[in-house]
This record gives sequence, structure tokens and C-alpha cells, in this order.
Amino acid sequence: MSLIVQKFGGTSVGSIERIRSVAARAIAAQQQGHQVVVTVSAMAGETNRLVALVEGIIERYNKREYDVVVAAGEQVSIGLLAIAIEAMGARARSYLGWQVRFLTDSVYSKARIQEIEGFRIRDDLEKGYIVVIAGFQGVDEKGDITTLGRGGSDTSAVALAAALEADRCDIYTDVDGVYTSDPRIVSSARRLARISYDEMLEMASLGAKVLQTRSVELAKKYKVPLRVLSSLEEGEGTLLTEEDELMEKVVVSAITHNRDEAKITILGVPDRPGVAATIFSALADATINVDMIIQNISESGETDVTFTVPRGDYQHALEVLAIPVKQIGAKEVVGNRTIAKVSAVGVGMRSHTGVAQRMFNALAADGINIQMISTSEIKISVILDEKYMELAVRTLHDAFELDKDAGDRVIAK
Ligand code: ADP
Ligand code: ASP
Ligand code: MG
Repeated sequence: MSLIVQKFGGTSVGSIERIRSVAARAIAAQQQGHQVVVTVSAMAGETNRLVALVEGIIERYNKREYDVVVAAGEQVSIGLLAIAIEAMGARARSYLGWQVRFLTDSVYSKARIQEIEGFRIRDDLEKGYIVVIAGFQGVDEKGDITTLGRGGSDTSAVALAAALEADRCDIYTDVDGVYTSDPRIVSSARRLARISYDEMLEMASLGAKVLQTRSVELAKKYKVPLRVLSSLEEGEGTLLTEEDELMEKVVVSAITHNRDEAKITILGVPDRPGVAATIFSALADATINVDMIIQNISESGETDVTFTVPRGDYQHALEVLAIPVKQIGAKEVVGNRTIAKVSAVGVGMRSHTGVAQRMFNALAADGINIQMISTSEIKISVILDEKYMELAVRTLHDAFELDKDAGDRVIAK
């Protein structure tokens, strides 16, 4: 008997009507002869509402307690879904993260799954239940509730599929697959029939929220056959696969954007060994992730260091930097919250030249100033003023002709 993990996001469980249609989909899969595990998010808007309640009390809150609050949304949706499934005549059982034991580390608000105890789920599946599991949450060794970071129920689903050795993991959402760019910004974006794990990993980490980055890492590591599908209509969706020759022919597969970062510059940093270590150790000790880093070669004995941090950590980062900046004798710290990152992603960049030139020319033609640049083997990212973000995304989508057919990888809308 094959085992399927289905995951439904917030919009897909956003109303009782939608929950009924999720229940019908799960039952249909069971009737086709599969064992079915369903992971769900909180109902649309619910997690945002809970986060706002926390932030309404204090800006820098206790993250252990934040997790207690924001994990609550999923408790409602799993219970409702199990009730809807039973109302339709099938059997269902819902579980919170701690009950089936999604064991995580204790990094509250962005915990990582270490292990899943699958025996209770397997037992229920054998008995004919559809098992409904709260996404986004886990429990640490002490028994404290943890959450996996925003969008984390994708990761719950993939981790479950890996742990249960599922035959498939289907991620149902409000778009019918992974597109060449966010269809909410680029109306001519096209659905990709297939995408390599590596490209999807870059896209997710560069802001394509359709899958949480960690879920793609796990899918790649454990070779989970993963599909992104619409919960609202039938279709093939997008399949994540290993890379093949055809994929390399396409230079750029997607344009992504991210407005969740802020830029910090430390001016007048003395040019001597250990300075960067002092700055970035302080941020690491405060569990602040640093993304892009730029440092110039200095001729005058001092230099400027610029880097980006998550926008939510901006204020905290400025506070954390006060002591090390003084210690190393730097002049001043300045920053900017209103930046955005726009990136071009494609495995074809490995074997094609001129991608950066095309990207920078297109942005220049629209008068968009580039503040920072970073590259990897399969992506080029630029930081620019947030107000130009949407224009930049559309411009680059056009410049790389992503609205045109690129063989069997891309399927017309
Ligand atoms: P869910 O609640 O189902 O997890 P999300 O809102 O987290 O859904 O993710 C789906 C959204 O991701 C889409 O509505 C879309 O706006 C956005 N998105 C961003 N980039 C892309 C992309 N390249 N392809 C598809 N969707 C994208
Ligand atoms: N409900 C959580 C969130 O809004 C998890 C998820 O949607 O995947 O971030
Ligand atoms: Mg999501």
C-alpha cells in the first residue's frame, strides 16, 4: 500500500467550505487505496493575527512564549479537518506536534526538526485512519513547544514524508505550481512543469515563498518526490526533480524577490585581522542571520563593511553591534530598512556567460540603482531600493524572456 503525505496551506483551509474540500481530497486519496497523512497550516490570516497580538505587547518578546502563542493556529485547523473528514464518513485522528513527537532543537521561532517518532501515525494508518497533523510546530527535549519559522508547515510535511518513507509528498497551495516569478507580481509568469531541487532551493531562500527553504533542503537530502499543486483546481503542478541536461539549456529559470531584509553598514572599520570575526561573532551569538556581506579592499587603512540581516532583527542587530563596533574602533553604523533583494536563478548559469551583463543592463535601462551585488554558481542577486522592487522583477522577467516558451520545462498558463 502506498503512503501519501498531503499538505494544505492557509488559504486552502481558510474557511469551513475549503476545509470540507480538503477533507474530500484526503478521502478520495484513501479510496484510491493510499494511506493518507495530511499536514495543515493555520487558517488564512490566523498566524499573522497571533503574531500581531504578541508584537502588540512588546517589540522584543520572549521567543519561547511567542511559540506558545503562534503554534495555536494549527490546533484549530487540524481539529476542524478531522471533524470534517469524519462528517463525510471516513475516520480521522488529529495530532499536535508534541503528540506524534516532532522533536526539534530549542531555537524558538525557527527550530529545526531532529527526529519524528512515526509509530503512532503508522499504527493509525494501519487501522484505516486518515492522520491529520499540525504543521509548523514541534517540541524540544524539555517538552517546550517550538515552531519552525514562517511557512514551516511545508517543512513539517516533507520531514514527515521522509520519516514515513512516503511515496509522495503533495504540497497543495493557492497557486497551481512553481512559476517563473511570483504570479502576484508578474502577470505573464509561467508555470514550470519541473524544477531542480537546487534551483528551488535558491528560489526559496531568495524569497519565493511557495515553499519554505528548509522543506526543499529536506526534499533534496531524502529524495522526497515533491509536487506543488493547486488545492482549488486539478492539474499537474510542478515536480521537483534532479537536474538534467534540458534544464541547463535554460539560462535563467526564475526571478525572485524578497523584502524581508535590511542593510547595515559599519563605516571606518580598521583594516586588520580579526575585525570581521568580532563583528559577525556578535551577530551570530545573538542568533541573527547575516546574508550578503560586502567589504572593500582598503587603501587608507580603513574600510566599510556592509551586510544584510532579516528586517525583523534590524533593531536588535544595531543594539548588538554597539559594543563590538566600539571595541574595534570603527567610526559609525548606518542602516536602511527599506531595501529589497531581486535575484535571477538558473542552473544554466553554470554553462552560459553574459547573465550579469544582461541583468545590469536591463536594470540600468529602467534607471534602477544597484546597491549591492552577490552571486553564486546558479544565481545573481542585487539589493535595491524597495520602491523599485516590482519594476525590477518585471523588467528582469522580460529581459530573460521568461514569458516565452522554453521547451517542455515550462507550461503555458
Ligand atoms: P500556503 O499558505 O499554501 O503555504 P504561501 O502563501 O506560503 O501558501 O505560498 C504560495 C504563494 O507563494 C503564492 O500565492 C505566490 O504569491 C507566492 N509565490 C512567490 N513566488 C512564487 C513562485 N515563483 N511561484 C509560485 N508562487 C510564488
Ligand atoms: N501557519 C504558519 C505560518 O503562517 C505555517 C505555514 O503557513 O506554513 O507561517
Ligand atoms: Mg506557505
